[in-house]
Amino acid sequence: MLRTIKIDWNHLADFQTLETPFPRPERIHPGLDEINPETFPAYLDEIGLVGMGGSGFPASTKIKANRGSHTLVINGIECEPGITIDKAVLLNDFLWVAAGANACAQAIGATRIILAVENNPELIQQLEKRYGEFQITGFSGRYPSGAEKLILKKLTGKFPPPGTRPFEFGFLIQNAVSLRAVGRAIIDGIPVVERPLTLAMPSVGFYKNLIAPVGITIQELFEIYNLPYDAAMHLISDSGLMMGREVSQFSTIEKTTLSILVLQRDEAFREERPCTRCGACNIACPLGLHPFTLTEKVRKGKTASATFKAQMTECFLCGVCAAVCPSGIPLVESLKKGKQCL
Ligand code: SF4
Ligand code: SF4
Repeated sequence: MLRTIKIDWNHLADFQTLETPFPRPERIHPGLDEINPETFPAYLDEIGLVGMGGSGFPASTKIKANRGSHTLVINGIECEPGITIDKAVLLNDFLWVAAGANACAQAIGATRIILAVENNPELIQQLEKRYGEFQITGFSGRYPSGAEKLILKKLTGKFPPPGTRPFEFGFLIQNAVSLRAVGRAIIDGIPVVERPLTLAMPSVGFYKNLIAPVGITIQELFEIYNLPYDAAMHLISDSGLMMGREVSQFSTIEKTTLSILVLQRDEAFREERPCTRCGACNIACPLGLHPFTLTEKVRKGKTASATFKAQMTECFLCGVCAAVCPSGIPLVESLKKGKQCL
């Protein structure tokens, strides 16, 4: 995680824009005439769909596990703060999103589709015109309210017990960009070869939502948009400030790339100081975990207990604890190491 939240987002672009400077791909894959629950998972493998909300989990496996779920949730709550790509896709590519949602719902036998979005009256009003057939539910826009467990908590009224998955409660939660990809394949015969993402360089007021071909390098994107990237001055965060990672300009856009943020190197990191036991990380953790205690255990190698493992299984590395820590302790880096002990 990049330990900074000091970014000037004053230049945040209108999320209604979604453009592409690239030629659109030709039809290269047969569309699906009929949704057959038996063959649909194999179809998702054929088009190359993985979780485009960042997980990269094979979509076919998720669909198979969700057979019999009563509700499909379109997750349109942004995966990371400062990113607006899910909203842009929902507003601009609604025919594809709706087609993908209907296909997945049919494949698992769901009878209800809920569109989960930030509780923004202007946004919801516009979405109602596009998704009249679905139930639209507003959620807090505060990160990480798009996490599956927090969506489930709001929809079921209860926090899902540790170790449980949404399908155990009858819900399939799919990111809006993943559903767009399903609809694109069904309607246009285009498999997963393009990636909607947010590209931002706040220091020069650049902020865009765009569709890029999967496999293009970040350097090529910089050249297309004339971004003054300098490796000595800037760092590139792939997929957000909270759960993202630093990459080089020669890295490529993947199916799971949510965003590319170009940050000032000198603003992006804070000095680490000793823990003051202020408790802010405990209060901030949406799962009620004790991040610093877990971090201490990782640092001291005390990772064998069942309690530690259960808590590490629950932690989804959202990064909120590290973001609020006034001592700049890299909690998420330790928690990532803790996950390796599972
Ligand atoms: S990363 Fe931190 S805040 Fe997020 S779930 Fe894990 S312990 Fe909690
Ligand atoms: S927020 Fe930081 S300083 Fe406060 S208890 Fe947690 S780790 Fe310690």
